[in-house]
Amino acid sequence: MKTLSLKSLSKTYFDAYAGTQVTAVRDVSLDIAEGEFVAIVGPSGCGKSTILNMIAGFIPASGGEILVGGRLVKGPGPDRGVVFQSFALFPWKTVIDNVGFGPKMRGVPKAERDAIAREYLALAGLTEAAGRYPNELSGGMQQRVGVVRALANEPDVLLMDEPFASVDAQTRMTLQEELTRIWQERRPTVLFITHDVAEAVFLASRVIVLSRGTVKAEVEIDLPRPRTWDSLAHDNGFKDLSAEILGLVRTA
Ligand code: ADP
Repeated sequence: MKTLSLKSLSKTYFDAYAGTQVTAVRDVSLDIAEGEFVAIVGPSGCGKSTILNMIAGFIPASGGEILVGGRLVKGPGPDRGVVFQSFALFPWKTVIDNVGFGPKMRGVPKAERDAIAREYLALAGLTEAAGRYPNELSGGMQQRVGVVRALANEPDVLLMDEPFASVDAQTRMTLQEELTRIWQERRPTVLFITHDVAEAVFLASRVIVLSRGTVKAEVEIDLPRPRTWDSLAHDNGFKDLSAEILGLVRTA
């Protein structure tokens, strides 16, 4: 099962300047079902990245447990795919070889991993870019390749930390539309972190509002799919949910 469970997760950092402990995450419990798209929103410093980094296995938790498909997380692993705002594609590899890198590490033969990579590239409209190098692509296209690379690894859970924050507003909307379309087609289990409430409501099936390291509220997003900005920008349900969540974030 491609599920993600957080059980009473907590994280304390030592602040070397102040010489004190800082509680970044406190008693966070969350169950994400297979194929669900959950977004965590909250103001800067509320602990979003800390949660994601613990799930990815990059930093240890101070307390609690993380389970992926029922298995305890003890460090990084291919069962979790991660997409960050700024991440490096391998500059010396073509797009198709970047996307096929995960399957290569798993020992998938070249012809087979090229086929997997081409399938995922096609899903994101990147077929034409297969033979290009990262420095020949726009920022938006590089982010797209990053998402495709994570998907091609077929992780149990896809972890995304503000993946579209560094591209221009127009490109961001296109990438959000693409992601929601791909999610609907493939139904990966996704945990998406953002401080952008509209982005969270647009993409997610459930939004978690985080406040000072702990869960403040949970809101189901029962808006119809497929979702496009044309269909949702003037939708009253979308506006009401965004206003409700923005209110929760602003008083967080
Ligand atoms: P967000 O992603 O919501 O902006 P973070 O998870 O980055 O929040 O940070 C949560 C809290 O933990 C903040 O108070 C931040 O200053 C603190 N923090 C994050 N990383 C460290 C670290 N390596 N050492 C000390 N404090 C940290």
